[in-house]
Amino acid sequence: MKPDKPAPASHRAWVREAVRRIDADFQRSSDTHLIPVALPGFAGISLYLKDESSHPTGSLKHRLARSLFLHALCNGWLHEHSTVVEASSGSTAISEAYFSRLLGLAFVAVMPRSTSAEKIAAIEFQGGRCHLVDDPTTIYAESQRLADELGGHYMDQFTYAERATDWRANNNIAESIFAQMRLEPFPVPAWLVSSAGTGGTLATLGRYVRYCRHETLVCGADAERSVFFDHYLARDAGLRIEQGSRIEGIGRPRVEASFIPDVLDAMVKVPDLWSLGAMHALSRRLGRPVGGSTGTNLVAALACARQMRERAESGAIVALLCDGGQRYSRTYHDAAWLQAQGLACEHEAAAVDAWLSHGQVPAALLAAWRLAGDLS
Ligand SMILES: *Cc1c(COP(=O)(O)O)cnc(C)c1O
Repeated sequence: MKPDKPAPASHRAWVREAVRRIDADFQRSSDTHLIPVALPGFAGISLYLKDESSHPTGSLKHRLARSLFLHALCNGWLHEHSTVVEASSGSTAISEAYFSRLLGLAFVAVMPRSTSAEKIAAIEFQGGRCHLVDDPTTIYAESQRLADELGGHYMDQFTYAERATDWRANNNIAESIFAQMRLEPFPVPAWLVSSAGTGGTLATLGRYVRYCRHETLVCGADAERSVFFDHYLARDAGLRIEQGSRIEGIGRPRVEASFIPDVLDAMVKVPDLWSLGAMHALSRRLGRPVGGSTGTNLVAALACARQMRERAESGAIVALLCDGGQRYSRTYHDAAWLQAQGLACEHEAAAVDAWLSHGQVPAALLAAWRLAGDLS
């Protein structure tokens, strides 16, 4: 049975307090770093990583969760007895559990039963509850059903990510990047690079550069088991694949509503082995582990650098460091696990390392990646 709705006046007071708590939390937080990465093989081209691993909940989903909560609060969709429900296989649920606790709301993550014990522990650590389902394709419908049953609210990141974040500015990730680039040799980047999970980050980047009249191009990076790249080529929103992505956080088996192909200037489809090889090469250069989707972004950023070099252009590329590698210490950063999954990528890691040093795209990658838009 649904709990009774609170009286309008007390409801507005609760919403005011909830928004204040989120704003105060933001006020206490510092911005994420923009880290320069040396590209010895690409003279005149500089690469920066926007380090989203330094958010309190460890990934770029911290921004998304904050935006989704503010959007839901200001739409009147949450009240003090709401249970927040989300369909998520990981990072978003961890961040939403954090904000639910901040507001004193119950949180339930609806996830496939195959979700790793570490992720479940991270959600429970933030005060959330995990509801596991056997068939991964049912997480959306099950989330809605649970929200209805509990008198709660299904947050629905895949629908609302693109509109919950203010694309004109208001502390979005694009505004932050441009502010942090101000004193660099090339303050306006030639390219911004991000992979797509919901597609929300790419939507914000693409809209912002148009709104600010920058010449910056936006490149989307896609994983192997995902429909986003093919949707970019064919604009077929009905595309579906059976298998889930092997790169956590990115790549989707269906075209999500928050993925907006019209604001992307190019896309790169990166084979998973190369994403993981790049993840390892980059982790060694940074002296700390990064997650798999950051490897995907590095390959796409180097595709942009390659084109700039061919055209004798100089400039800056900014790519996202989406999360740290600690989350994947028993998976992507465990050689035995990679071997068992058929994802051993030492060869690819060495090839990406040489690519960074000497600027030559590995021949095997040239044959395996797919480029679209301005990069094709
Ligand atoms: C969600 C996610 C992304 C992609 O971000 P979106 O804005 O949802 O497209 C990349 N990497 C990781 C680890 C993520 O969790």
